[in-house]
Amino acid sequence: MHPNPSYQVIAHATLCLRDTIKKRDSFSNMDACIRDVKELSLVYDGKSENTFVSMYFDGRDKRSLQRRERACRAVLRGDELENFVKTMEHIRKHMERNRAVAIFASDKHDYVKVVPLPVPLPNMLVVDSSPYIRPLAEMTGEWEPFTLILINTHHAKIFSVSCGRVTKREDKSFNVMNKHKKGGWSQARFQRLRKGSIHSFLTDVVHDVKHIAEGDIIIAGPGQAKHEFKRLLPESMQRSVIAMFDSDMDDEQHLFSESLVAMAEMEWKEQKTLLAHIRRELLRDGLAAYGIDETLEAAREGKVEVLLIERGYKERGWICEHCQNAGRGDAEHCPVCGGRTSQVDIIEEIVEFAERTDAIIEFIDEEELCMLGHVAALLRYR
Ligand SMILES: [Zn+2]
Repeated sequence: MHPNPSYQVIAHATLCLRDTIKKRDSFSNMDACIRDVKELSLVYDGKSENTFVSMYFDGRDKRSLQRRERACRAVLRGDELENFVKTMEHIRKHMERNRAVAIFASDKHDYVKVVPLPVPLPNMLVVDSSPYIRPLAEMTGEWEPFTLILINTHHAKIFSVSCGRVTKREDKSFNVMNKHKKGGWSQARFQRLRKGSIHSFLTDVVHDVKHIAEGDIIIAGPGQAKHEFKRLLPESMQRSVIAMFDSDMDDEQHLFSESLVAMAEMEWKEQKTLLAHIRRELLRDGLAAYGIDETLEAAREGKVEVLLIERGYKERGWICEHCQNAGRGDAEHCPVCGGRTSQVDIIEEIVEFAERTDAIIEFIDEEELCMLGHVAALLRYR
């Protein structure tokens, strides 16, 4: 078995990239998505439940969403039903064929937020007291941006990859032969000049990359130029280089799949390290929390620095619309203020609390996390 849990994700990403190379004008920006998750986590209805509709549409088949819409209409009553019907009208205006999108709306709150999705997510329609952001948060965590540099002695291609898609691309080339005509020069002088030209070309590329690069860096290309290029990078950027490998200058497809494998492997290693860190902190009763109750409390109090969540895990819970107190299982009234409660996926609430205080959120597949109670966190303070 491949050690990497995200292997299917890579296969999917490779397809996306293939698609992307074909139509470069339809890029979505992952940074925008990350900002949207933060914004959405701050939106909620403090008085009544069931006022926000969250819809994820993969841009293909609307039928499952239409079924969900009918089901929601059947169970909603009074003002909530009226709000739902009106909200769905706003939402429909933003659904287009072949455009993956997440739409969060509430007619009552005069709120519509449309988030174009760089990667389609499964269709979903959720009615709740706040936008349902978990799929979006999960996606942004899975697709860290990185910079890919394909380089030889006279040609460089720089790709910014975000969410498994190329968001920006720069080509730079330098013709050594034309710049220094060979005629009349001694072979030794020519070689010296050529070496100097290569050096200045690589230095130029370093200069460009300094302005473009974000996140991790992967360097590829035939021969030795990539190694010299890496040596020319500032030290802080050298530390960001997570992989180097041989590649043809023209085989972009190979380059992308290799890069995504490297990124997924690094992500996997990082998650292992985080888990090890949490384990150490737990053993010495330090800055860590585990299990739903403890982690929920820490997230509500803004103490969470890094939140680890078992991918796909859900658990029934409740939230008080009045004071935002929340817990597992069922509660008709809030034990703190006696306010009305809504039924929720308690994991989604933990994600929202953590998102509001800028915690880093990682969704992982490790069995160890399951044993720790499906969620765990590193804390900022106690
Ligand atoms: Zn309450």
